[in-house]
Amino acid sequence: MTQQKIINILGKKYTLKFYKNLLEYKNENGLVEEFAFGDCNHISKLIRICNTVSKEETADTLFHEILHAIDDELNLKIPHNKLHNISTVLTDTLLRNKLIKIKI
Ligand SMILES: [Zn+2]
Repeated sequence: MTQQKIINILGKKYTLKFYKNLLEYKNENGLVEEFAFGDCNHISKLIRICNTVSKEETADTLFHEILHAIDDELNLKIPHNKLHNISTVLTDTLLRNKLIKIKI
């Protein structure tokens, strides 16, 4: 069964779902073109996270997708590489200083 939780991001309800497998993206021929640890759909307000990698990677992915939601809600237009760096550094800082405890 897929773990699911409703989270509040800037007053909007997002559904957070955890999956055991990497997310697959298929091309028009039905062939898998790309894999991802997570994604954020701004229209359906769904955040999907693969949680079978390390807890640190899962936390990084979760922060990354939450940042995507914030970026969209506030129309910030943060370039993807910068958004990725922010989530990675934020995760590292929180973990390194034991400010969060991972329970995924
Ligand atoms: Zn991304």
